[in-house]
Amino acid sequence: MSEAVVVGAGVVGACCALALQQRGVAVTLVDRSAPGEACSFGNSGSFGVGLIAPHATPGTVRRIPQLWCGRDEPLALNLRHLPAIFSWGRRFIAASRRVDALAAARSALLSRAYDAWDELFDLAAAGDLIKSAGMIFAFSHEDGPQRIDWLVSLARRHGVVIERISGDEARRMNPSLGAINRPLAESFSYRCPRDLSYVCHRSGGMSQPGFPGPPSCGDYDLKRVLMP
Ligand SMILES: Cc1cc2nc3c(=O)[nH]c(=O)nc-3n(C[C@H](O)[C@H](O)[C@H](O)COP(=O)(O)OP(=O)(O)OC[C@H]3O[C@@H](n4cnc5c(N)ncnc54)[C@H](O)[C@@H]3O)c2cc1C
Repeated sequence: MSEAVVVGAGVVGACCALALQQRGVAVTLVDRSAPGEACSFGNSGSFGVGLIAPHATPGTVRRIPQLWCGRDEPLALNLRHLPAIFSWGRRFIAASRRVDALAAARSALLSRAYDAWDELFDLAAAGDLIKSAGMIFAFSHEDGPQRIDWLVSLARRHGVVIERISGDEARRMNPSLGAINRPLAESFSYRCPRDLSYVCHRSGGMSQPGFPGPPSCGDYDLKRVLMP
């Protein structure tokens, strides 16, 4: 039987470990802390299957100065790091000219996401964690109707079903909102990576102390190490 160590028991590592195990690989899942405690713990828990717009778009590139310099804007750039991120930045700008190709690639991947998750949640008997609650995207007036039209038409071109509703309707659906919105998705609980790594252990996978399953910290003599 071939063997593999997967480093990192977040949602990506847990899924990789399970998928390898399903293919007959003896898996060891390691992490420097408990499974599912890092980024996979604190997200909003939704399957963003409609999120096919890439981050690199002409609009994002145009807004970089504003995103960087504006008050309360999300982009933090330390000038000392500029040389290091120069080549990444060039690729980001080049990618912004291929929005449709990138959206098509994301759409092809994401359209299979529900089936892939179903398979893993069946294994984990964790289907009760999934809620079909829909997804609302709210835009403030500052986003401008052009940007919203652009996003909606990009998504529709790539097969995403979007219903546009008014700000008032959005507020009725979710009174804590103050804007406008759209697509549909499902959501999952943050417990998911932990449940998936438990399944990996139940099925004979190894882990480190602190995880469920037999401890296996130390040296590994393995042909494959996966760092998702
Ligand atoms: C605010 C927020 C909201 C989000 N909302 C969503 C959402 O709704 N839907 C969605 O799909 N995604 C969402 N995301 C993104 C999603 O959470 C991440 O893409 C995902 O959790 C990444 O999983 P991961 O397994 O790659 O990383 P992590 O969950 O961070 O796992 C990496 C693991 O590797 C371990 N590790 C790192 N280095 C080492 C090392 N050297 N040795 C041993 N272990 C190591 C860490 O301890 C950690 O457990 C959101 C992210 C954020 C920040």
